[in-house]
Amino acid sequence: MEIINVKNVCKDYKNLRALNNVSLTINEGELYGLLGVNGAGKTTLLKILSGLTNLTSGEFYVSNYSNKEMDEIKKIIDISPQESAVAMNLTVLENLKFFQELYNQNDNEYLEQIINDLGLSEVKKQRAKTLSGGYQRRLSIALGLISKPKILLLDEPTLGLDVLARRELWNIINKFKGKITIILTSHYLEEIEALCDRVSIMSKGNLLIEGTIDEIKEKTNETSFEEAFVKIVGGAI
Ligand code: ATP
Repeated sequence: MEIINVKNVCKDYKNLRALNNVSLTINEGELYGLLGVNGAGKTTLLKILSGLTNLTSGEFYVSNYSNKEMDEIKKIIDISPQESAVAMNLTVLENLKFFQELYNQNDNEYLEQIINDLGLSEVKKQRAKTLSGGYQRRLSIALGLISKPKILLLDEPTLGLDVLARRELWNIINKFKGKITIILTSHYLEEIEALCDRVSIMSKGNLLIEGTIDEIKEKTNETSFEEAFVKIVGGAI
């Protein structure tokens, strides 16, 4: 069942068109990947969906609420905040409880479940500033989950992590597959291949192609996703 429907969305920043007539649909429980090189418009799209910025034209629906009902949409969507949202002097547990209070929630069982699912048990009494990059990213995802969103937005969740930390995070993200809807942006083709059910490839504000990895390979007549990506972004399709 469809949970997000984006219709002809455009976003202009002064003279720059960051999104140009972008349309896509995402199904409930799907792990959906937005792939593109720098400046493609991935972050802008996530910001629009979560109400952090307004669209210039077009419309979108989330669970049948239109973009004119952002207050309702904000109850359904949450975004894993950047590290700057984490209070570095507080412990992992204190950060999580602080966010829980912000959302007027006090479900301890859920809090424990999130700590377990994100593999944060061993570090829950540690101050955030003492965590490694991988654990800080896990905390940031945990903070995004605290409001019990139906849809979680992950903007380049593994950027800057080493190979091992990245793999661990993939395993964690995979655990949520089918349980909540996740939209993930990435530059990394192998990450999108490893995690996502469906993907769209964006370039310079345009959504060039949408489908499963296999469908995209088939449409481009390529056996490797990387070759397919190069063909699409290079304009050969
Ligand atoms: P990256 O992978 O580098 O994060 P992205 O695909 O997420 O790229 P966006 O951050 O959405 O791309 O940016 C799309 C375009 O809009 C870029 O050209 C960017 O410079 C521009 N842009 C983004 N935010 C603003 C802003 N607040 N003011 C002006 N231009 C902006």
